[in-house]
Amino acid sequence: MGTIKLTLAGILLVLFSCKKNQNGYEAMVEEAASSGKNYSNVAFASENDKVCQMSLDIGIVDTLQFNGKVYGFCSQSCKQQFTNNPHKYVSEGLLK
Ligand SMILES: [Zn+2]
Repeated sequence: MGTIKLTLAGILLVLFSCKKNQNGYEAMVEEAASSGKNYSNVAFASENDKVCQMSLDIGIVDTLQFNGKVYGFCSQSCKQQFTNNPHKYVSEGLLK
């Protein structure tokens, strides 16, 4: 019985997420597992903030997962800019 309840909760969660992310890009951009602020065991796709090019060594405020890779950002506004147009900052997946 517990399993069924969990499954239902999962489906509801997915439905809710889909409604929240109607923008095509946003649907592809998932929050990284960043509940804690410890990023030491996170393998980032880049050593720099893709938006402002700042080194992530200085400090990561937020992270984001895109195309299965994790990107770190120095500020919420950098993350927001990336979310608005990830392909501007990540060339992967584009035809060359
Ligand atoms: Zn930045």
